[in-house]
Amino acid sequence: MKGCLERMCFAITCELYEKKGNKGNKQMKWEENVRKVVPYVPGEQPQKKDIIKLNTNECPYPPSPMVQKAMQEMDYQDLRLYPEFPEKTPLTAHLAEYYHVKEEQIFIGVGSDDVLSMAFLTFFNSDRPVFFPDITYSFYDVWADIYRIPYEVKPLDADFCIRKEDYMGECGGIIFPNPNAPTGVLMGVEDIEDIVKAHSDVVVIIDEAYIDFGGTTCLPLLESYDNLLVVRTFSKSRAMAGSRIGYAIGNEKLIRYLNDAKYSVNSYTMNRPALRLGAESVKDDAYFKEICGKIIRTRERSEKELAALGFTFPKSYGNFIFASHKKVRAKEIFEKLKERDIYVRHWNKARIDDYLRITIGTDEEMDALFAALRSIV
Ligand code: PMP
Repeated sequence: MKGCLERMCFAITCELYEKKGNKGNKQMKWEENVRKVVPYVPGEQPQKKDIIKLNTNECPYPPSPMVQKAMQEMDYQDLRLYPEFPEKTPLTAHLAEYYHVKEEQIFIGVGSDDVLSMAFLTFFNSDRPVFFPDITYSFYDVWADIYRIPYEVKPLDADFCIRKEDYMGECGGIIFPNPNAPTGVLMGVEDIEDIVKAHSDVVVIIDEAYIDFGGTTCLPLLESYDNLLVVRTFSKSRAMAGSRIGYAIGNEKLIRYLNDAKYSVNSYTMNRPALRLGAESVKDDAYFKEICGKIIRTRERSEKELAALGFTFPKSYGNFIFASHKKVRAKEIFEKLKERDIYVRHWNKARIDDYLRITIGTDEEMDALFAALRSIV
Protein backbone atom coordinates (compact mmCIF):
# COMPACT_ATOMS: atom_id res chain seq x y z
CA MET A 1 0.00 0.00 0.00
CA LYS A 2 2.72 2.42 1.01
CA GLY A 3 4.89 1.62 -2.00
CA CYS A 4 1.87 2.06 -4.25
CA LEU A 5 1.04 5.49 -2.79
CA GLU A 6 4.67 6.51 -3.05
CA ARG A 7 4.77 5.54 -6.72
CA MET A 8 1.55 7.49 -7.33
CA CYS A 9 2.95 10.59 -5.60
CA PHE A 10 6.15 10.20 -7.58
CA ALA A 11 4.33 9.89 -10.92
CA ILE A 12 2.27 13.01 -10.16
CA THR A 13 5.37 14.92 -9.11
CA CYS A 14 7.15 13.99 -12.36
CA GLU A 15 4.14 15.07 -14.38
CA LEU A 16 3.95 18.41 -12.56
CA TYR A 17 7.69 18.81 -12.93
CA GLU A 18 7.43 18.39 -16.69
CA LYS A 19 4.47 20.77 -16.90
CA LYS A 20 6.59 23.42 -15.19
CA GLY A 21 8.78 23.91 -18.21
CA ASN A 22 11.07 20.92 -18.23
CA LYS A 23 9.28 19.34 -21.20
CA GLY A 24 11.31 18.89 -24.28
CA ASN A 25 14.59 18.68 -22.39
CA LYS A 26 16.33 15.51 -23.42
CA GLN A 27 15.91 13.03 -20.55
CA MET A 28 19.25 11.63 -19.39
CA LYS A 29 19.30 8.03 -18.21
CA TRP A 30 20.29 8.93 -14.66
CA GLU A 31 17.33 11.30 -14.34
CA GLU A 32 15.06 8.34 -13.68
CA ASN A 33 16.77 8.06 -10.32
CA VAL A 34 16.55 11.71 -9.34
CA ARG A 35 14.32 12.67 -6.41
CA LYS A 36 12.24 15.18 -8.38
CA VAL A 37 10.00 17.70 -6.72
CA VAL A 38 8.13 20.83 -7.72
CA PRO A 39 9.67 23.31 -5.30
CA TYR A 40 7.93 25.86 -3.10
CA VAL A 41 7.95 29.34 -4.61
CA PRO A 42 8.59 32.03 -1.98
CA GLY A 43 7.30 35.58 -2.40
CA GLU A 44 9.42 37.94 -4.48
CA GLN A 45 12.40 39.61 -2.79
CA PRO A 46 13.00 42.59 -5.08
CA GLN A 47 16.45 44.15 -4.75
CA LYS A 48 15.17 47.62 -5.70
CA LYS A 49 15.36 50.33 -3.04
CA ASP A 50 12.38 52.50 -2.02
CA ILE A 51 9.70 49.95 -2.65
CA ILE A 52 6.76 49.22 -0.37
CA LYS A 53 7.08 45.55 0.43
CA LEU A 54 3.80 44.02 1.61
CA ASN A 55 4.24 40.59 0.00
CA THR A 56 5.98 38.22 2.45
CA ASN A 57 4.48 39.01 5.87
CA GLU A 58 7.69 40.43 7.30
CA CYS A 59 7.42 42.85 10.20
CA PRO A 60 7.70 46.52 9.20
CA TYR A 61 9.44 47.42 12.49
CA PRO A 62 13.02 46.61 13.49
CA PRO A 63 13.88 43.85 15.98
CA SER A 64 14.17 44.77 19.68
CA PRO A 65 16.89 47.32 20.57
CA MET A 66 18.30 44.57 22.82
CA VAL A 67 18.95 42.52 19.69
CA GLN A 68 20.77 45.49 18.15
CA LYS A 69 22.91 45.93 21.28
CA ALA A 70 23.81 42.23 21.41
CA MET A 71 24.72 42.30 17.73
CA GLN A 72 27.12 45.19 18.29
CA GLU A 73 28.72 43.44 21.24
CA MET A 74 29.29 40.15 19.40
CA ASP A 75 32.85 38.85 19.12
CA TYR A 76 33.62 37.62 15.62
CA GLN A 77 36.11 35.13 17.10
CA ASP A 78 33.17 33.16 18.50
CA LEU A 79 32.48 32.03 14.94
CA ARG A 80 35.58 29.82 15.13
CA LEU A 81 33.68 27.36 17.32
CA TYR A 82 30.67 25.24 16.54
CA PRO A 83 27.52 26.46 18.27
CA GLU A 84 25.98 24.79 21.34
CA PHE A 85 24.07 21.54 20.87
CA PRO A 86 20.69 22.67 19.56
CA GLU A 87 18.66 21.23 22.43
CA LYS A 88 20.49 23.28 25.07
CA THR A 89 21.26 26.85 24.05
CA PRO A 90 20.62 30.37 25.38
CA LEU A 91 17.63 30.45 23.05
CA THR A 92 16.01 27.21 24.24
CA ALA A 93 16.59 28.30 27.86
CA HIS A 94 14.84 31.65 27.35
CA LEU A 95 11.98 30.16 25.37
CA ALA A 96 11.40 27.52 28.07
CA GLU A 97 11.32 30.20 30.76
CA TYR A 98 9.00 32.39 28.69
CA TYR A 99 6.47 29.63 28.06
CA HIS A 100 6.82 27.96 31.49
CA VAL A 101 7.84 24.63 29.99
CA LYS A 102 10.95 22.47 30.36
CA GLU A 103 13.87 23.11 28.05
CA GLU A 104 13.43 19.52 26.86
CA GLN A 105 10.06 20.57 25.42
CA ILE A 106 11.60 23.04 22.97
CA PHE A 107 12.97 22.25 19.53
CA ILE A 108 14.64 25.00 17.49
CA GLY A 109 15.46 25.27 13.81
CA VAL A 110 16.44 27.52 10.92
CA GLY A 111 13.10 29.28 10.59
CA SER A 112 9.87 27.40 11.17
CA ASP A 113 10.29 26.00 7.65
CA ASP A 114 13.18 23.90 8.97
CA VAL A 115 11.17 22.90 12.06
CA LEU A 116 8.11 21.97 9.98
CA SER A 117 10.18 20.07 7.46
CA MET A 118 11.79 18.04 10.27
CA ALA A 119 8.36 17.46 11.81
CA PHE A 120 7.01 16.12 8.49
CA LEU A 121 10.00 13.81 8.20
CA THR A 122 9.75 12.60 11.80
CA PHE A 123 6.03 12.29 12.47
CA PHE A 124 4.31 11.68 9.15
CA ASN A 125 5.42 8.12 8.58
CA SER A 126 2.20 6.22 7.97
CA ASP A 127 0.51 4.55 4.99
CA ARG A 128 -2.51 6.69 5.72
CA PRO A 129 -2.70 10.20 4.27
CA VAL A 130 -1.84 13.33 6.24
CA PHE A 131 -4.70 15.85 6.25
CA PHE A 132 -4.34 19.57 5.60
CA PRO A 133 -6.57 22.25 4.01
CA ASP A 134 -6.74 22.90 0.24
CA ILE A 135 -6.00 26.56 0.85
CA THR A 136 -3.11 26.82 3.26
CA TYR A 137 0.63 27.33 3.54
CA SER A 138 1.80 26.11 0.16
CA PHE A 139 4.92 24.44 1.55
CA TYR A 140 2.97 21.55 3.13
CA ASP A 141 2.35 19.65 -0.10
CA VAL A 142 5.96 20.25 -1.15
CA TRP A 143 7.34 18.59 2.01
CA ALA A 144 4.84 15.78 1.60
CA ASP A 145 6.02 15.30 -1.99
CA ILE A 146 9.73 15.36 -1.28
CA TYR A 147 9.43 12.94 1.64
CA ARG A 148 6.91 10.80 -0.31
CA ILE A 149 4.25 11.22 2.36
CA PRO A 150 0.69 10.47 1.18
CA TYR A 151 -1.69 13.37 1.84
CA GLU A 152 -5.27 14.44 1.33
CA VAL A 153 -6.38 18.05 1.15
CA LYS A 154 -9.62 19.06 2.84
CA PRO A 155 -11.48 21.96 1.21
CA LEU A 156 -12.16 25.03 3.33
CA ASP A 157 -15.83 26.02 3.43
CA ALA A 158 -17.20 28.94 1.40
CA ASP A 159 -16.14 31.37 4.16
CA PHE A 160 -12.60 29.96 4.15
CA CYS A 161 -13.11 28.19 7.49
CA ILE A 162 -11.59 24.80 8.26
CA ARG A 163 -14.40 22.25 8.76
CA LYS A 164 -13.54 20.32 11.89
CA GLU A 165 -15.63 17.31 10.79
CA ASP A 166 -13.33 16.80 7.78
CA TYR A 167 -10.44 16.06 10.11
CA MET A 168 -12.09 13.33 12.17
CA GLY A 169 -11.32 10.32 9.92
CA GLU A 170 -8.35 7.95 10.15
CA CYS A 171 -5.18 9.56 8.89
CA GLY A 172 -1.40 9.63 9.15
CA GLY A 173 -1.32 13.01 10.87
CA ILE A 174 -2.79 16.51 10.65
CA ILE A 175 -1.28 19.91 10.07
CA PHE A 176 -2.72 23.38 9.58
CA PRO A 177 -1.77 26.92 10.50
CA ASN A 178 -3.85 28.74 13.09
CA PRO A 179 -4.70 31.38 12.04
CA ASN A 180 -4.67 29.84 8.59
CA ALA A 181 -2.51 31.35 5.88
CA PRO A 182 -3.12 33.08 3.53
CA THR A 183 -6.71 33.60 4.74
CA GLY A 184 -6.04 34.83 8.30
CA VAL A 185 -9.05 32.84 9.56
CA LEU A 186 -8.74 31.60 13.15
CA MET A 187 -10.02 28.32 14.57
CA GLY A 188 -11.12 28.22 18.23
CA VAL A 189 -9.03 26.25 20.74
CA GLU A 190 -12.03 24.02 21.60
CA ASP A 191 -12.25 22.84 17.98
CA ILE A 192 -8.52 22.19 17.89
CA GLU A 193 -8.86 20.19 21.09
CA ASP A 194 -11.59 18.03 19.53
CA ILE A 195 -9.28 17.23 16.61
CA VAL A 196 -6.27 16.46 18.81
CA LYS A 197 -8.40 14.35 21.16
CA ALA A 198 -9.81 12.29 18.26
CA HIS A 199 -6.32 11.36 17.02
CA SER A 200 -4.22 9.99 19.86
CA ASP A 201 -2.59 7.60 17.33
CA VAL A 202 -0.97 10.36 15.22
CA VAL A 203 0.73 13.72 15.70
CA VAL A 204 -1.28 16.90 15.15
CA ILE A 205 0.83 19.92 14.24
CA ILE A 206 -0.56 23.40 14.72
CA ASP A 207 1.52 26.00 12.88
CA GLU A 208 1.14 29.17 14.96
CA ALA A 209 3.31 31.38 12.72
CA TYR A 210 0.78 34.24 13.06
CA ILE A 211 -0.76 33.62 16.49
CA ASP A 212 0.75 36.71 18.14
CA PHE A 213 -1.51 39.05 16.16
CA GLY A 214 -4.64 38.52 18.22
CA GLY A 215 -5.34 34.77 18.10
CA THR A 216 -5.64 32.45 21.09
CA THR A 217 -2.83 29.91 21.30
CA CYS A 218 -3.46 26.21 21.80
CA LEU A 219 -0.29 25.86 23.92
CA PRO A 220 -2.32 25.09 27.12
CA LEU A 221 -3.52 21.87 25.41
CA LEU A 222 0.03 20.53 25.71
CA GLU A 223 -0.68 19.73 29.35
CA SER A 224 -3.39 17.26 28.36
CA TYR A 225 -2.27 15.89 24.97
CA ASP A 226 1.07 14.31 24.16
CA ASN A 227 0.36 14.10 20.40
CA LEU A 228 0.26 17.89 19.85
CA LEU A 229 3.16 19.89 18.45
CA VAL A 230 2.93 23.69 18.27
CA VAL A 231 5.26 25.44 15.82
CA ARG A 232 6.22 29.12 15.99
CA THR A 233 8.55 31.57 14.23
CA PHE A 234 10.62 34.70 14.92
CA SER A 235 10.02 35.86 11.32
CA LYS A 236 6.76 37.74 11.84
CA SER A 237 5.95 39.03 15.33
CA ARG A 238 9.61 39.16 16.42
CA ALA A 239 10.74 41.03 13.30
CA MET A 240 13.63 38.63 12.69
CA ALA A 241 12.91 36.89 9.36
CA GLY A 242 16.54 37.48 8.36
CA SER A 243 17.91 35.53 11.32
CA ARG A 244 15.91 32.38 10.41
CA ILE A 245 14.66 31.20 13.80
CA GLY A 246 11.74 28.86 14.34
CA TYR A 247 10.78 26.57 17.20
CA ALA A 248 8.35 23.89 18.26
CA ILE A 249 6.92 23.18 21.69
CA GLY A 250 5.59 19.78 22.63
CA ASN A 251 5.80 16.82 24.90
CA GLU A 252 9.40 15.86 25.83
CA LYS A 253 9.16 12.58 23.93
CA LEU A 254 8.03 14.28 20.70
CA ILE A 255 10.90 16.72 20.99
CA ARG A 256 13.39 13.90 21.55
CA TYR A 257 12.19 12.20 18.35
CA LEU A 258 12.52 15.49 16.46
CA ASN A 259 16.07 15.97 17.73
CA ASP A 260 16.96 12.39 16.77
CA ALA A 261 15.87 13.10 13.19
CA LYS A 262 17.64 16.46 13.18
CA TYR A 263 20.90 14.95 14.43
CA SER A 264 20.60 12.39 11.66
CA VAL A 265 20.57 15.10 9.01
CA ASN A 266 22.64 18.01 10.37
CA SER A 267 23.32 18.48 14.09
CA TYR A 268 24.33 22.14 13.99
CA THR A 269 21.71 23.84 11.90
CA MET A 270 21.54 27.11 13.79
CA ASN A 271 24.42 29.53 13.93
CA ARG A 272 25.85 31.19 17.03
CA PRO A 273 24.65 34.76 16.26
CA ALA A 274 21.06 33.59 15.68
CA LEU A 275 21.05 31.67 18.99
CA ARG A 276 22.23 34.75 20.92
CA LEU A 277 20.06 37.31 19.14
CA GLY A 278 16.96 35.14 19.42
CA ALA A 279 17.46 34.92 23.19
CA GLU A 280 17.72 38.73 23.44
CA SER A 281 14.45 39.11 21.56
CA VAL A 282 12.64 36.78 23.98
CA LYS A 283 13.95 38.81 26.95
CA ASP A 284 12.37 42.01 25.63
CA ASP A 285 8.70 41.21 26.09
CA ALA A 286 7.62 44.85 26.35
CA TYR A 287 8.96 45.65 22.88
CA PHE A 288 7.47 42.45 21.44
CA LYS A 289 4.01 43.35 22.77
CA GLU A 290 4.37 46.94 21.57
CA ILE A 291 5.04 46.00 17.93
CA CYS A 292 2.34 43.32 17.86
CA GLY A 293 -0.12 45.89 19.24
CA LYS A 294 0.87 48.42 16.59
CA ILE A 295 0.38 45.87 13.79
CA ILE A 296 -3.04 44.86 15.13
CA ARG A 297 -4.13 48.53 15.29
CA THR A 298 -2.91 49.17 11.74
CA ARG A 299 -4.70 46.01 10.56
CA GLU A 300 -7.97 47.22 12.10
CA ARG A 301 -7.64 50.62 10.43
CA SER A 302 -6.69 48.94 7.12
CA GLU A 303 -9.82 46.77 7.25
CA LYS A 304 -11.96 49.92 7.39
CA GLU A 305 -10.04 51.58 4.54
CA LEU A 306 -10.19 48.48 2.34
CA ALA A 307 -13.91 47.98 2.99
CA ALA A 308 -14.54 51.62 2.00
CA LEU A 309 -12.65 50.96 -1.25
CA GLY A 310 -14.94 48.04 -2.13
CA PHE A 311 -12.83 45.12 -0.91
CA THR A 312 -14.20 42.13 0.96
CA PHE A 313 -12.13 39.84 3.20
CA PRO A 314 -12.48 37.37 6.03
CA LYS A 315 -11.66 38.69 9.51
CA SER A 316 -7.90 38.31 9.80
CA TYR A 317 -5.93 37.32 12.88
CA GLY A 318 -2.59 37.53 11.05
CA ASN A 319 -0.32 40.39 10.06
CA PHE A 320 -2.01 40.43 6.65
CA ILE A 321 -5.42 40.78 5.02
CA PHE A 322 -6.69 38.43 2.31
CA ALA A 323 -8.81 40.69 0.16
CA SER A 324 -10.84 40.54 -3.02
CA HIS A 325 -12.35 43.52 -4.85
CA LYS A 326 -15.99 43.52 -5.85
CA LYS A 327 -15.29 44.90 -9.35
CA VAL A 328 -11.59 44.81 -10.26
CA ARG A 329 -9.71 41.54 -10.73
CA ALA A 330 -6.98 40.82 -8.20
CA LYS A 331 -4.37 40.16 -10.88
CA GLU A 332 -4.94 43.59 -12.42
CA ILE A 333 -4.65 45.31 -9.04
CA PHE A 334 -1.52 43.28 -8.27
CA GLU A 335 0.16 44.36 -11.52
CA LYS A 336 -0.84 48.00 -11.23
CA LEU A 337 0.45 48.14 -7.65
CA LYS A 338 3.73 46.61 -8.81
CA GLU A 339 4.10 49.33 -11.45
CA ARG A 340 3.93 51.76 -8.53
CA ASP A 341 6.58 49.75 -6.61
CA ILE A 342 4.06 48.38 -4.13
CA TYR A 343 4.41 44.60 -3.77
CA VAL A 344 1.59 42.41 -2.46
CA ARG A 345 1.07 38.65 -2.98
CA HIS A 346 -1.15 37.01 -5.58
CA TRP A 347 -1.53 33.31 -6.44
CA ASN A 348 -2.74 31.96 -9.79
CA LYS A 349 -4.52 29.18 -7.98
CA ALA A 350 -8.11 27.91 -8.07
CA ARG A 351 -10.45 29.52 -5.49
CA ILE A 352 -7.97 32.23 -4.51
CA ASP A 353 -6.90 33.76 -7.81
CA ASP A 354 -9.16 36.75 -7.20
CA TYR A 355 -7.58 37.55 -3.84
CA LEU A 356 -4.55 39.56 -2.77
CA ARG A 357 -2.69 38.92 0.43
CA ILE A 358 -1.63 42.27 1.77
CA THR A 359 0.92 42.30 4.59
CA ILE A 360 0.33 44.96 7.23
CA GLY A 361 3.10 47.56 6.95
CA THR A 362 3.63 50.78 8.88
CA ASP A 363 0.77 53.31 8.89
CA GLU A 364 2.68 55.38 6.29
CA GLU A 365 3.14 52.37 4.00
CA MET A 366 -0.52 51.48 4.29
CA ASP A 367 -1.52 55.08 3.50
CA ALA A 368 0.58 54.89 0.31
CA LEU A 369 -1.15 51.62 -0.55
CA PHE A 370 -4.63 53.10 -0.02
CA ALA A 371 -3.74 56.13 -2.17
CA ALA A 372 -2.59 53.81 -4.98
CA LEU A 373 -5.69 51.61 -4.62
CA ARG A 374 -7.95 54.67 -4.78
CA SER A 375 -6.61 55.44 -8.24
CA ILE A 376 -6.67 51.78 -9.40
CA VAL A 377 -10.16 50.71 -8.29
N1 PMP B 1 4.17 28.78 8.44
C1 PMP B 1 3.41 29.66 7.78
C2 PMP B 1 1.93 29.52 7.86
C3 PMP B 1 3.99 30.69 7.04
O1 PMP B 1 3.23 31.55 6.37
C4 PMP B 1 5.40 30.80 7.01
C5 PMP B 1 6.05 31.94 6.26
N2 PMP B 1 6.27 31.78 4.94
C6 PMP B 1 6.15 29.84 7.70
C7 PMP B 1 5.50 28.85 8.41
C8 PMP B 1 7.65 29.81 7.64
O2 PMP B 1 8.23 30.93 8.19
P1 PMP B 1 9.76 30.94 8.65
O3 PMP B 1 10.47 29.80 7.98
O4 PMP B 1 10.25 32.27 8.22
O5 PMP B 1 9.73 30.78 10.13
